[in-house]
Amino acid sequence: MSSIERDVVIIGAGASGLTAATDLKKAGLTVAVLEARDRVGGRLWTDDIDGATLEIGGQWVSPDQDALIDTLAELGLETYSRYREGINVYLGEGGERRTFEGEIFPVAPTTEREIVSLIDRLDALVAEIDPDRPWDHPQAKELDEISFRRWLETQTEDEEARRNIGMFIAGAMLTKPAHAFSALQALLMAASAGSFSHLVDADFILDKRVKGGLQQVPLLLAERLGDDVFLNAPVRTLRWSDEGVTAIADGVEVRARRVILAVPPVLISRISYEPPLPRRQQQMHQHLSMGFVIKVHAVYETPFWREDGLSGTAFSPYELVHEAYDNSYHGDPRGTLVGFVSDEAADDVFRQSPEERKARILESLSHYYGEKALSPVVYYESDWGSEEWTRGAYAASFDMGGLARYGSDLRTPVGPVHFSCSDMAGRGYQHVDGAIRVGHETADAIIASLAP
Ligand code: FAD
Repeated sequence: MSSIERDVVIIGAGASGLTAATDLKKAGLTVAVLEARDRVGGRLWTDDIDGATLEIGGQWVSPDQDALIDTLAELGLETYSRYREGINVYLGEGGERRTFEGEIFPVAPTTEREIVSLIDRLDALVAEIDPDRPWDHPQAKELDEISFRRWLETQTEDEEARRNIGMFIAGAMLTKPAHAFSALQALLMAASAGSFSHLVDADFILDKRVKGGLQQVPLLLAERLGDDVFLNAPVRTLRWSDEGVTAIADGVEVRARRVILAVPPVLISRISYEPPLPRRQQQMHQHLSMGFVIKVHAVYETPFWREDGLSGTAFSPYELVHEAYDNSYHGDPRGTLVGFVSDEAADDVFRQSPEERKARILESLSHYYGEKALSPVVYYESDWGSEEWTRGAYAASFDMGGLARYGSDLRTPVGPVHFSCSDMAGRGYQHVDGAIRVGHETADAIIASLAP
C-alpha cells in the first residue's frame, strides 16, 4: 500500500471528478484522483465492438450545454451532426405505422391538440422553476407529492397524449416509470434542459456527437493529469475530520485537506466513513435511485432506412423500443441504429435469455424500419445495471417527495467532504454538461475555502 499526500483527493474519474481535478491543479493545488475501474470516464465509454465504434454510455451534445461545449473546444475536440434528413416514424397503439416531420407525432387531431396544450402548460411551469433550486418553487411541496403520471391524469383525459408526454420524461430521461417520480422531479428534468419543448425536440437535445467519441473528454483530461490519476483504486474507507481526510483505496492511501466524492449518489454509501456521515446525509442518500435503460446498437451493412426516405428517428409509447435514431458513426459507411428499452420494459427483457431478448428488440426495431432491421452485422446491448461502479442508467433521481425534502442539501459539503456529479446538477442534470458544470463549481468552492 503506497501512502501519499495531496491538497485534494478526488474519488471517481468521471467527467465531474476530472473537471474538478483539472481546475484545482490549474489553481496550484496538488491532487490525486482515485478511480475504481481500470479505465477513466465512468458513464462515458467509447469502445470498439466487433469492429464498430460504439458509445456505450453518453454521446449527444445539445446547443445549450455550454459547459460541455467549452470543454470540447478547450480539448480541441470536433463535433458532427446526427443524421436526421427525411421522415420520422411513429407507431400507434395498434401498431399502425405513420410517418411524420417535425416534433408533433401523427396522432388524431384531438390528441394532437392535447399534446400541444400539455407542452404549453409544462413550458409555462418549467419557466417558473430554477433548475438549481427547484425546491424554492412556491408549489414545490405539492408538486413533489404527486407522481408525474397522476399529475398528467389531472391535466388531460386523453391517454395517448399522456403516454406521449410521459414518455419524454419517464422512458426517455429519468428512465423510471412515470408513477415512480414526482411532477417536481419531472419539471427539474425539463428545466435543466431549458424547457420542456427542448426535450421533445430531438434535433435540439440529440444534436451533435463528438468525433472519436465522447469518452475523449475524460481520456484527455486524465492524460493531462498524468500520474495523479490512479486506476483500479476503489475507495473503501474515508476517514474525515475538520483537519482533513484519509481516503483508503485498494493499493493506495491518500491524505488530503479536502475530498470530492465525484461518484453517483447511490454509490456514496458503498464507502465506509469514519466517523459516519451525519444523519442528514445517511438519510438523504437512501432517497435517490438510479433509473434503468438498455441502449441497443445495431450496425448494418448500409443505412438502408435512408433509401426509404427515413431519417431513422422513430418513437412509440407502445413499443418495447420506445425511441430509436440513426446513430451511424462518423466516417463509417455502414449504418447504425440506436434504440432504447427503458425501466419496466428493460426489467422484462432481462428476464429472458440473451437470444430471446435480442430477437424481441430487433423485432421491435423492424416495426419501425422493416424486415431489414432484423439482420444487423453487429449487435450490442449496454447493461449499466450490472456495472458495479454505476448500477443503472442514465442517472439518479429522488423518490416521491425527496427533491423538496432533501434537494437543497444534496451538494452541501460536510466538513472537508464535497460532492460532485451530474446527478446533483441543476442545469445539465443527468448529462455530461451537468457533470462538468458541478465539477467547476465544486473546485471553485474548494479553492475559495483553502485561500489564505
Ligand atoms: P460517472 O461518470 O458515473 O463517474 C463516477 C466515477 O466514479 C466512475 O468512473 C466510477 O467508476 C467511479 N467510482 C464510483 N465509486 C467509486 C469508489 N468507491 N472509488 C473510486 N471510484 C469510484 N449524457 C449526455 O450528456 N448525453 C448523452 O447522450 C447521454 N447518454 C447516456 C447514455 C447512457 C447509456 C448513460 C449510462 C449515460 C448517458 N448520459 C448522457 C449521462 C452521462 O453519461 C452522465 O451524466 C455523466 O457521464 C456522469 O458523469 P459523472 O462524472 O458525474 O459520473
